[in-house]
Amino acid sequence: MVSRPPTFCPDCATRLETVTFDERERRRCPNCETVVWHNPVPCAGVAVVDRSGRDPAVLCVERGVPPGVGEWTIPGGHMEIGEEPATAAARELEEETGVAVDPADLEILSASAMPPREGKHVVTVHYVAARADTAGEPVADSDATDARFWTPAEFDASAETFRPVHERRFREAAALFE
Ligand SMILES: [Zn+2]
Repeated sequence: MVSRPPTFCPDCATRLETVTFDERERRRCPNCETVVWHNPVPCAGVAVVDRSGRDPAVLCVERGVPPGVGEWTIPGGHMEIGEEPATAAARELEEETGVAVDPADLEILSASAMPPREGKHVVTVHYVAARADTAGEPVADSDATDARFWTPAEFDASAETFRPVHERRFREAAALFE
């Protein structure tokens, strides 16, 4: 299985051919007849919501690596082999912001297929967590140039941009705690 449309067989390096079955185009090796499956990649992320102020604020990170450098997102990333989704979300949160949370304190917000980029499809499990259940002050870490809490109103008044596929979750997570 690969995450981007494959060109060559991973076993014998022969150029793949396209065949159609199950009403979808598949890539198959004409030499060893292996079908090289192109499937979505699972990711997990968590919106930490601080409700100590007048309006709920959500912990966001500013992307420092492509795609979308300079855009704000909810912390998250790829699941590792053998990892539970909530564990992956908590790990990515700590890697990107320095804020720690017990995976048992995460609640599922939703799960969705994200719009593909360069043939790579991602399915993300979106969690929320209460700031009161987390530890540590946010510090931008791997893959991020800034990490901070935003209320939707503060964000709207700024000149910053949110990564479009993440913006709905940002607002949904804040609204949950209103
Ligand atoms: Zn082959």
